[in-house]
Amino acid sequence: MNRNIYHPLIQDKHENLRSQVREFALKEIKPIAKKLDEYSEFSPEITRKMGKLGLFGVTIPKEYGGQNLDTLSYIIAVEELARIDSSQAATVAAHNSLGLSPIFKYGTDDQRQRLLPKLTTGQYVWGFGLTEPNAGSDAKAIETTARLENNYWMVNGQKIFITNSASAISMGVTLLSNTSTDPTRKEYSAILVEREKSKYQAESIKNKMVWRAADTGRLTFQNAEVPKENLLGERGKGLRIVLETLDAGRLSVAAIGLGLAQGALDMAKEYSAKRKQFGSRLNQFQVISHKLVDMEVKIELARNYLYTSCWLKDNQMPFSKQAAISKLYTSEIAREIADEAVQIFGGYGLFKDNDIERFYRDQRILSIGEGTSEILKMVIGKEMGI
Ligand SMILES: Cc1cc2nc3c(=O)[nH]c(=O)nc-3n(C[C@H](O)[C@H](O)[C@H](O)COP(=O)(O)OP(=O)(O)OC[C@H]3O[C@@H](n4cnc5c(N)ncnc54)[C@H](O)[C@@H]3O)c2cc1C
Repeated sequence: MNRNIYHPLIQDKHENLRSQVREFALKEIKPIAKKLDEYSEFSPEITRKMGKLGLFGVTIPKEYGGQNLDTLSYIIAVEELARIDSSQAATVAAHNSLGLSPIFKYGTDDQRQRLLPKLTTGQYVWGFGLTEPNAGSDAKAIETTARLENNYWMVNGQKIFITNSASAISMGVTLLSNTSTDPTRKEYSAILVEREKSKYQAESIKNKMVWRAADTGRLTFQNAEVPKENLLGERGKGLRIVLETLDAGRLSVAAIGLGLAQGALDMAKEYSAKRKQFGSRLNQFQVISHKLVDMEVKIELARNYLYTSCWLKDNQMPFSKQAAISKLYTSEIAREIADEAVQIFGGYGLFKDNDIERFYRDQRILSIGEGTSEILKMVIGKEMGI
């Protein structure tokens, strides 16, 4: 088989999936990505199509409607989407890593059977509500409370910046909340809040610089009633669920960075082979060709490290440090590569009719979401024992 990528971990099944997602992204996403970005519009239609392709529940067993593939397959799918458009990649990444994965990993049989088959179709999405106005990097600072009363959790509080939480197809959210009955100490628990059963206010936040075609919501809970059995995992173990979920989530943010960087390099390479100045094509100037080479080197290193991190996860080995390094490195190189790509486009890179302009903006979230670069250095430092 003629391979796009040669890597010891890549098998035919990975390359087949890569080709399938690449073709889909070129045919279905590329023609509308610019318009969705311009109007800050989340597309349920594209989401459904991505669901049909099997991108919702890539690693979830078939009995729940998933594809039962490995982490590397999932990461390749996200990488290929981001090569064309980060918003769609973010929708898929957030739904798989932050939405489905904790429900599958910590859910009871009943929770899995009730929720997962609907969430693996692309008809619905599920959010992950950690961030609050006063709790970003500091997860322990959350103020949302859930008090148990007559078999219901009474939820009060606000979550902000939650991906896949406010569009018409958002079915619910996994909420980190304080379930303590003692006001002098907090008890962190994760609760599955279904939108139809537990009324809460969900507003889409517009005017974003990044991921403008992905849905980002602000959720307000005022005595929202959630059935007692919607507790996810053990009471008081919510923070562990969140931190473990974020470890795996970082691999997919790294995949978005990798795909974005590859897409930016592809565009810069193509443009520099056409544009002439001083009688020569841009790529004939050594300065420009070295820029392209530097991009390639960074991408190769980022890809190798990310794929190896996926292998560790798939083989039940510790991967928390590797996921943090992967996300830190890939988000940093995505920024450098998008910046250099704009430089190669010159003035033409600064206009919205050029996709590189969107890539330049979209990379900016990568060193902020799911652990800022500063916080990731704390995670890596802790793993190093410093
Ligand atoms: C488009 C988008 C989608 C998102 N999706 C989700 C989602 O689905 N679910 C969810 O829960 N959240 C989501 N988030 C929130 C995101 O994870 C947070 O923005 C991120 O964790 C940072 O929190 P903050 O914005 O409050 O920044 P802050 O925590 O206030 O940090 C501000 C700055 O201070 C630095 N800083 C903070 N503490 C320290 C420290 N101890 N030492 C050194 N520096 C420090 C940070 O690194 C950063 O540079 C999303 C955000 C965006 C923009």
